[in-house]
Amino acid sequence: MKNIVILGSTGSIGRKTLKVIEDFPDEFKVVGLACRSNVELLSEQASKFRPEVIAVADKGKVGRLKQLISALKVSSPSGARVKILAGEEGLTEISGYQEAQMVVSALVGSSGLLPLLSAIEQGKEIALANKEALVMAGELIIRKAREKGVRILPLDSEHSAIFQCLNVSSNGFPPANKRASLRQEVKRIVLTGSGGPLIDLKASDFSSVSSRQALRHPRWKMGNKVSIDSATLMNKGFEVIEAHWLFGIDIDRIEIVIHPEAVIHSMVEFINGSIIAQLGVADMYLPIQYALSYPRRFSTKLDSLDFSRLRQFSFSSPDLDRFPCLGLAYQAAKTGGSMPVVLNAADEELVGYFLDNKIKFTDIPRIIGKLTASHTVRHDLTVGDILEIDKWARQEVGKFC
Ligand code: MG
Repeated sequence: MKNIVILGSTGSIGRKTLKVIEDFPDEFKVVGLACRSNVELLSEQASKFRPEVIAVADKGKVGRLKQLISALKVSSPSGARVKILAGEEGLTEISGYQEAQMVVSALVGSSGLLPLLSAIEQGKEIALANKEALVMAGELIIRKAREKGVRILPLDSEHSAIFQCLNVSSNGFPPANKRASLRQEVKRIVLTGSGGPLIDLKASDFSSVSSRQALRHPRWKMGNKVSIDSATLMNKGFEVIEAHWLFGIDIDRIEIVIHPEAVIHSMVEFINGSIIAQLGVADMYLPIQYALSYPRRFSTKLDSLDFSRLRQFSFSSPDLDRFPCLGLAYQAAKTGGSMPVVLNAADEELVGYFLDNKIKFTDIPRIIGKLTASHTVRHDLTVGDILEIDKWARQEVGKFC
């Protein structure tokens, strides 16, 4: 039985993780649930899964959460009252919860960084969906995971695909400190993307894209932040950085290919010219379940691919003129140091402004470009440095909006 804490349990990844856990009651048990602010759903989840501890990041919501929990008479399986935590300290505490073996990191954006570091510090196995944490602090996170002997398993569909391709090749994914030989056998990673909702839009129409239009993803149903990032293709850029840190592969050996059918979830080419790909229906259930069950595989009720109905696979290179965020992400990744911190903070702020209809879609890359151009790169960052640069970038973005 694996005891699991879910950070971000009310979001789309969190809800699907609970679905996997519910389907395998003899394998997985929820011991902790945390969310940013949706205390209504959190209390419902707590009453159903009966964790030992729950946490809400928004301190203003803790009163309401306590009311809901006592009204629902929620108790843990031992009969004890569920422990309720709040704020950043609450998230840090639940991430290191003693009874947990695995922490699912599915908070949105930079809010996931400190809880993730706390979980690694406490030696928890990580199932990672919060790619922004790796964009901001990949070097630090991987170093800490290596020190603690902690395995970070990907939840992102592309990274789960790469992970599965590497597993086939190496007969088991080695821990970060023993990966050199595997790295030497990889020629390149081919990261696929459906292209998002705007892939066929004319260049001249981008400035008038509405938030509704940008949120309408053709293949995946996701939260707002990652949906907008998918429309700008910043999400793919983040995924390049995520793959770089997770698998230790150089940025210039990670290539993006647009594949609108979203059947191939990514591929790895090895030095002998052999390419291994992972295919399947587009449903996050599979990557989530594999991270939880790894190294085993469990059955799912997902449809099998019907090849006779697929007709064709199409591939193209991403258009950096219409999707400048992708170029900005590659540039920041190659520069390294504090540049990806600025990229991530600026993007998170600007996506918020765009969703509030305060800026145009094309302002997102325009302002990120200005900020990254004006930033003097710093290296060897501590957590404190990262948070300080993150704050600076957000303040600068505010001046443009
Ligand atoms: Mg993805």
